[in-house]
Amino acid sequence: MIARTCSVEGCQRPYYAKGFCAHHYHKNRNSMLAATKKTVWPAAPQKKCVAWLCDEPVYGMGVCEKHYREWRMEEVGGGIKR
Ligand SMILES: [Zn+2]
Ligand SMILES: [Zn+2]
Repeated sequence: MIARTCSVEGCQRPYYAKGFCAHHYHKNRNSMLAATKKTVWPAAPQKKCVAWLCDEPVYGMGVCEKHYREWRMEEVGGGIKR
């Protein structure tokens, strides 16, 4: 029986889990966690609109000017009177 090793090219460490050695398994897991964190709705203030697929700069309440107005319109039921 051939001892399994890490699937990462050039890595000769013993097999641990998911095709990787312990080192690369944890490395991979961490980068996967970091990637999933990026897709989560951001809680901290940021400089880009938080709306889905929107890259506009923040205008107010964490969203761009366009979305800020849209969201305000929704809040008041679409009929803003000044
Ligand atoms: Zn490895
Ligand atoms: Zn936006």
